[in-house]
Amino acid sequence: MSLPAHAEIVVIGGGIIGCSTAYHLARDHKADVLLLEQGKLTSGSTWHAAGLVGQLRSSASITRVLKYSVELYKKLDAETGLATGWKMTGCLRLATSQDRWTEFRRLATTAKSFGMEMQLISPAEVKKMWPLMQVDDLVGASWLPTDGQASPSDITQSLAKGARMHGAKLIEAVRVTGFAMKGGRITAVKTDKGDIACEKVVNCAGQWARQVGAMAGINVPLQPVKHQYVITERIPGLATDAPTIRDPDRRTYFKEEVGGLVFGGYEPNPQAWTTGDVPNDWEFRLFDDDYDHFEQHMAQALERVPALGQIGIKQMINGPESFTPDGNFILGVAPECENMFVGAGFNAFGIASGGGAGWVLAQWVVDGEAPLDLWVVDIRRFSGLHASRDWVRDRTLEAYGKHYTVGFPHEEYESGRPRIVSPLYERLKRHRAVFGSKLGWERPNWFAPAGMEPRDVYSMGRQNWFDAVGDEHRHVREKVGIFDQSSFAKYELAGKDAGKALDWICANDVGRPVGRLTYTQLLNTRGGIEADLTVARLGEDRFYIVTGTGFRTHDFGRIRDHIGEGLDATLIDVTEEFGTLSLMGPRARDALAAVTKADVSNAAFPFGHGREIEIAGTVVRALRVTYVGELGWELHVPIGATGTVFDALMAAGEPHGIRPVGYRALESLRLEKGYRAWGSDITPNDNPLEAGLGWAVKLRKNTDFLGRKALEAAVARPMAKRFAGFTVDDPDIVLVGRETILRNGEAVGYLTSGGYGYTIGRPIGFGYVRNPGGVDDAFLTSGEYELVVAMERTRARIALEPLYDPQAMKVKG
Ligand SMILES: Cc1cc2nc3c(=O)[nH]c(=O)nc-3n(C[C@H](O)[C@H](O)[C@H](O)COP(=O)(O)OP(=O)(O)OC[C@H]3O[C@@H](n4cnc5c(N)ncnc54)[C@H](O)[C@@H]3O)c2cc1C
Repeated sequence: MSLPAHAEIVVIGGGIIGCSTAYHLARDHKADVLLLEQGKLTSGSTWHAAGLVGQLRSSASITRVLKYSVELYKKLDAETGLATGWKMTGCLRLATSQDRWTEFRRLATTAKSFGMEMQLISPAEVKKMWPLMQVDDLVGASWLPTDGQASPSDITQSLAKGARMHGAKLIEAVRVTGFAMKGGRITAVKTDKGDIACEKVVNCAGQWARQVGAMAGINVPLQPVKHQYVITERIPGLATDAPTIRDPDRRTYFKEEVGGLVFGGYEPNPQAWTTGDVPNDWEFRLFDDDYDHFEQHMAQALERVPALGQIGIKQMINGPESFTPDGNFILGVAPECENMFVGAGFNAFGIASGGGAGWVLAQWVVDGEAPLDLWVVDIRRFSGLHASRDWVRDRTLEAYGKHYTVGFPHEEYESGRPRIVSPLYERLKRHRAVFGSKLGWERPNWFAPAGMEPRDVYSMGRQNWFDAVGDEHRHVREKVGIFDQSSFAKYELAGKDAGKALDWICANDVGRPVGRLTYTQLLNTRGGIEADLTVARLGEDRFYIVTGTGFRTHDFGRIRDHIGEGLDATLIDVTEEFGTLSLMGPRARDALAAVTKADVSNAAFPFGHGREIEIAGTVVRALRVTYVGELGWELHVPIGATGTVFDALMAAGEPHGIRPVGYRALESLRLEKGYRAWGSDITPNDNPLEAGLGWAVKLRKNTDFLGRKALEAAVARPMAKRFAGFTVDDPDIVLVGRETILRNGEAVGYLTSGGYGYTIGRPIGFGYVRNPGGVDDAFLTSGEYELVVAMERTRARIALEPLYDPQAMKVKG
């Protein structure tokens, strides 16, 4: 087939992801699509995948994406005439320890929350389903009947055929060699067979996605890792519909294949492939067999399935697959180039994800925004830090090694740390800080009291820091705490049209007088919440914008990309220019007054205002806000003076009981006060009305803003879900999120956040209560609520107001 001179959308890569994206672009959007593959379709990582297809993930949206894959694989052959090899065998996950069992109990609850059936079964039941298995060491297993397996090459060929049937062109043996760019946009794709002008590019180049992205100045942080499995000879007595097995405590997985087994694993000592470019001629190629390295899986597999001892190995597959630093794949529009989309880095679940990832990516490409909350896989979750290949390799290998370890709540990665530290790092260490890391920044999670080792000890129940964090929490409620929040992302928007630009971008009215602060959300066209942040008006034409550490790339892109055409407004990132100290608690004013001559009385410096004040000879941007529900200020200090200002506050605040406090206390404080966290409690799937944040939207003003139309339509109809808080009476219950909410015994939603409120002395959860007929106050308050926590039902109370209200000085709930 000859190359066309133009295509609306060029998809690069003919693996499962490229073919699925092309199929959905053609089928759902009738787009003019051209897919280019440098070798043959499937010749990258796809052809040698084992083909296990699991569906349950910890994100509801990603679970939905994976469920979609299964639905598609079931019926694709009817459309294309090409079988996918789909077999709904179900999946058994084995538990050999109590911690693992607790993890499964939580997983089974998550499954129920997301509308999937997962049962927990006994070793005897496992033995019945899989007689060749040795089950003596099992506590039990989880059983997900709708999981299965498929043939990776067959699915891909079927998708390719479907794409062609819907009008897409797929051309093999054409290598993309570069891009023609104009003003940060791609105008044409260059290939070894000629150039193709285009409007959009989708980079589905698998482990090559990094180097293909680099040709357009885009960073795709992935690392190819060698992944091995073996295929055995036939095993007498093995059923052809035997469930797939994941045996995480032995780090292995199994799948039936033509009467034998495929088995492989995730070793703690994985082998990275190159951190340089992947060779272009790596077509249908594998690495040499490495039985020395695979021995660890072999030993474990033999103990699980002793019959393997009598069976020969037919073949070893040792192939590269791209993994990422957090174990999630990479989707969406590149922050560096507005018309390159990426679908890559599938962490050995690209076959399971392929159908659904292609569906959502195609929609994203066409609409310019994600069709649902895809934050956990969004390419904008990364930052400049991820341009370091060595850092990405080390963190990715750690994530790979943890693939099958027990997932403890609050677990932190250890590799590549410390990477970015605030000027207070050494000081906070002297205060016995235990740090976590967020987007490369070291941040104090909690402070160990004297006599206690400053380190996290993970467990499934209350962890070792529980009491220490309780002390910090109470300290903020009673005295004053100082939080190092220097990692906050900070931007300035300046220019004579800056206000006008923000009028459109922000749902709230940020065009207030100079010196005012506004909490606002940024909405998508569906009215869903894409970001929430604080905007301070520094001058007529100048705004200072503060948002969460992890959202730095995402929120910057969101604002920059929506500044209206031709407006005079320039956005710059000033994160590293300011350290941020949050002074919070009833004695915050006393501590602040002791270090500044500025009048910080309520009359002179009311809530929602920002002023420049001088502390220890430094002019500081003081913003009167709170995320903990107490009197407080965020002090944005020129970075070089952060230490001096901290020291001055600590010295002057001593009589008022000042002490450093960490992020875990912050979490507990915000839960009590009902503050929503973006990414969990509020997401692109939720609009401000459903989230109870309608008060922060300027619907009464006559200004148009992004998402307004959708919100106006939402106001006119009953709300199908509403945000609420929950408490349970038993203080020992551990809520981690995703627990099912029952109303009058019926599942109506699940928790988006879970934690503990030390002032109220009870666990707290947030979540949405759903009802297709509408959710109003009467509906919410009339039901009897329970939470399903690790499969146990426990009575819960609903709270429509914050559980703790310092103004009223009383505890509710
Ligand atoms: C041993 C092993 C076992 C696995 N088992 C499973 C499993 O059981 N279940 C599961 O879900 N997943 C599994 N996976 C993962 C799965 O194989 C991958 O996630 C998936 O195949 C990735 O698909 P892709 O389309 O992103 O990449 P690829 O299949 O690698 O496709 C990318 C394509 O882009 C092409 N390309 C690159 N550069 C260019 C260029 N410049 N111009 C044109 N074309 C270009 C390449 O030639 C390649 O064909 C396994 C992986 C391995 C290695």
